[in-house]
Amino acid sequence: TKTYAMTGGASGIGAALKESLQARGDRVIVVDLKNADIIADLSTVEGRQHAIAGITELATDGLDGFVACAGLPPVAEPLSLITQVNYFAAVATIEGVVDLVAKKNGAIVSVCSNSAPLPGLNEEHIELLLAGKEAEACALIETLDGHNAYAGSKNALTKWTRRNAAEMMRKGVRLNGIAPGMTRTPLTDKVFADETLGDATREFSKCISYGDLATPDMIADAMLFLLDPAARYVSGSILFVDGGQDALLRPDQF
Ligand code: NAD
Repeated sequence: TKTYAMTGGASGIGAALKESLQARGDRVIVVDLKNADIIADLSTVEGRQHAIAGITELATDGLDGFVACAGLPPVAEPLSLITQVNYFAAVATIEGVVDLVAKKNGAIVSVCSNSAPLPGLNEEHIELLLAGKEAEACALIETLDGHNAYAGSKNALTKWTRRNAAEMMRKGVRLNGIAPGMTRTPLTDKVFADETLGDATREFSKCISYGDLATPDMIADAMLFLLDPAARYVSGSILFVDGGQDALLRPDQF
């Protein structure tokens, strides 16, 4: 049996991945606020430490894979929660379990977003994230907006993933990112229901080549690939799974 751990496995994309892994007989250790093997609030340093300690205790032989999936939408409040969960918790949990993943020459997937390359992002905020300055980044984001909090956190996580892939590879671990497009989950329901971001998001969702939003299993299937030995030569890649939206909007960027 293979053993995987993930954050955010109680809902949406993470839950779809958990179900796929369990359906083929793999063991999955879930960290989340509820309905999880380890209950932890990843917005806090203590919660992250609790999560890492819990995974370490449950996966003594190591991990075949780890997925940092927990995340909050651009409409979460306060905005600093998005910074804490989407960026700092992802980085802290990945760093906290990398030795466990190295034991089995496994793979790590950071859950980024196809919103990461969108325009209008504050560079100073992204620099603070990449510099690991959590308090400063949280203070700055409260003066910005949900787009900066969400897409900014995913932009920084994408860069962090690319910057750290080589170091992880030296440990025998493959680190890749996945960039989902809009996917039908409780997270997108909250965005669509928002007075300010709802209409803009509905408009944005019209330019998806596939013609519709993703279902969570479409994203989970691509994560399964990145976790699998079939992807054994894939490292530092950001896999866009967005129905062709990024290619449509930025055909010449890659
Ligand atoms: P979701 O809301 O269905 O699931 C997110 C999970 O994260 C929930 O189970 C939630 O409890 C958990 N979580 C939130 N805050 C937490 C905290 N402080 N501590 C522990 N767990 C916490 O959302 P989803 O749409 O499945 O999103 C999963 C990931 O995919 C997120 O990182 C999201 O940013 C990313 N993503 C989603 C979309 C989309 O359209 N749904 C698009 C691109 C990227």
